[in-house]
Amino acid sequence: MKPAPFAYRRPGTIAEAVEALAGEPNAKVLAGGQSLVPLLSMRLAAPAMLVDINGIPGLDEVTVEDGGVRVGALARHAAVLASPDVRRVQPLVSLALANVAHATIRNRGTTVGSIVHADAAAEMPVVLSLLGGSLDVEGPRGRRTIPASELYLGPLESSVAHDEIAVSAYFPGLAAGAGVAFEEIARRHGDYALVGAAALVDGDTVRVGYLSVSDVPTVVDLSGVADDDLGEAALAQLDPAEDIHATAAYRAQLVRVLTGRVVRSAHTFAEGVR
Ligand SMILES: Cc1cc2nc3c(=O)[nH]c(=O)nc-3n(C[C@H](O)[C@H](O)[C@H](O)COP(=O)(O)OP(=O)(O)OC[C@H]3O[C@@H](n4cnc5c(N)ncnc54)[C@H](O)[C@@H]3O)c2cc1C
Repeated sequence: MKPAPFAYRRPGTIAEAVEALAGEPNAKVLAGGQSLVPLLSMRLAAPAMLVDINGIPGLDEVTVEDGGVRVGALARHAAVLASPDVRRVQPLVSLALANVAHATIRNRGTTVGSIVHADAAAEMPVVLSLLGGSLDVEGPRGRRTIPASELYLGPLESSVAHDEIAVSAYFPGLAAGAGVAFEEIARRHGDYALVGAAALVDGDTVRVGYLSVSDVPTVVDLSGVADDDLGEAALAQLDPAEDIHATAAYRAQLVRVLTGRVVRSAHTFAEGVR
């Protein structure tokens, strides 16, 4: 199908983009278009206006800041994945990005766009949540920082307001002696995961984030849980969903298997970097 007609703006500054969004309540930001364009083509979304932010300079930067990494709104997944700074400062971002779609989609899709899109089957929202990162947004009321814990409201729903632009995402760095791991099961490499898990271990703290388990990215605390009990302890805090891709029982089994794996590998990582 073809998209329904829409107006198109390509502002040169964030302020102009905010102004365009403020003037049309049914407008959408266009970043990489890898989620939005298919939705337009299938007419699952029919915004009156697209505000294409690709002409705004300076939004594609990936920088090290306060011991973490800041990823600009136009940094493509591929650029973030290729960044040695990201791999060094917060390796979980690189580990997870390697599982995001295929190279052609990573060349165009943005990490920040994925975070705003708030798909619970996507890798980067759960990584941001697990690490306790944040999103900087700008709108008519000025700039604000949204902690990941306040970002995900429901399926494909983030707390970024319709007239706000996400400017960058901040991923805290890996503390000395901490470890991370990421694993997912998909039918084919590059497909959305049937279930994915990311682990962060830091001293006695063990936290695991899950994608494709419920309708929002979900993080559980497994500190103090014995190795053999990890899967069941995680499931006690989760309610795996059933859909056309997997039954709830199959997802529960994937949670059991992946939880043990990622926690073990995060411990191994931590031992290796001590
Ligand atoms: C075949 C296919 C397979 C894929 N597989 C995966 C996968 O395995 N894992 C995965 O995580 N993703 C996957 N994706 C999605 C891909 O990662 C997208 O790039 C990403 O979800 C959205 O980023 P984008 O820059 O393309 O955003 P767009 O498509 O441009 O926008 C998506 C949504 O976010 C909003 N938005 C985007 N940027 C901003 C901003 N800066 N400020 C405010 N709102 C904004 C848009 O208005 C829109 O609502 C896949 C996509 C395709 C087509």
